[in-house]
Amino acid sequence: MTDTLVDVHDLFVHFPVRAGGAITRTFNTVRAVDGVSFSVRRGETLGLVGESGCGKTTTGLAILRLIEPTGGSVVFDGVDVTALPKRELRSLRKRVAMIFQDPYASLDPRMSIGTIVGEPIEIHGPARSRRSRNSRVGELLEMVGLNPDYRNRYPHEFSGGQRQRVGIARALATEPEFIVCDEPIAALDVSIQAGVMNLLEELQRELGLTYLFIAHDLSAVQHFSDRIAVMYLGRIVESADRIALYEETRHPYTEALLSAVPVPDPKTERMRARVILQGDIPSPLNPPRGCNFHPRCPKAFEPCPTGDPVLIGEQHRVACHLHPDG
Ligand code: SF4
Repeated sequence: MTDTLVDVHDLFVHFPVRAGGAITRTFNTVRAVDGVSFSVRRGETLGLVGESGCGKTTTGLAILRLIEPTGGSVVFDGVDVTALPKRELRSLRKRVAMIFQDPYASLDPRMSIGTIVGEPIEIHGPARSRRSRNSRVGELLEMVGLNPDYRNRYPHEFSGGQRQRVGIARALATEPEFIVCDEPIAALDVSIQAGVMNLLEELQRELGLTYLFIAHDLSAVQHFSDRIAVMYLGRIVESADRIALYEETRHPYTEALLSAVPVPDPKTERMRARVILQGDIPSPLNPPRGCNFHPRCPKAFEPCPTGDPVLIGEQHRVACHLHPDG
């Protein structure tokens, strides 16, 4: 058994943009994920960070084959899941899960929470009697800190934090090894975010889970991740273990994200320099040539508008002309 549970290699997800009346034609392509490679080790949390629209969620969905990759491979525990025919995906579905960002939209309002949590067991789990399934649903609700007697209640009867706990219980239903957590606290009040993060950490320790933790800012993954990959416009621009990423930052985009993370000491917070990026993230329909960050990069220099930097390095990888050796 190798240390690596998930190995993503040169993953592409491109969406054709079509127009026309009776005869539609493709006139452009959204390059949502544009050649992404990383691996996730068993039992670790890999943080995947970048601004909205950079392709993080699409990467997570493609890894789980909830959308189809256009190219590249995802090897899960030695099996290339991108090559599996759809009918053979059932075995993958039991071993992986996703926790969604919006606990309001991701739960069917017409289903009781017992039915929501029990559904994956019914679809993917081993055959169980109704009684055994109910008992498992009760266990799962307890594991996430909810009263099992609430199983007949409906999502609208719960707060945002409680709904996210229902989403976590549903994700755990088939006893997965790998969970994509897609900004699981971003839609919650700040006052309840820490409780949900603590729960995810406890579950990881107790169940030996492996997480891909998606977030739009580094503060959300700062204490939670073992390693962090920073994504910009469909590509990984820097990846390293958490300490190295914070203490030996190499990519100007990571520097900008880090400078936005608040520091607890007000004096230090007042003194430190902020990197303010100019402009918005460009459209993945028409990404800039060369380094795709160059129109916003405060350190751009001569080769940046034309030369496309390659992600280089071993433990600490970076794609930037300022670091030709990684
Ligand atoms: Fe900035 Fe150039 Fe490095 Fe891109 S390659 S991040 S534009 S310095």
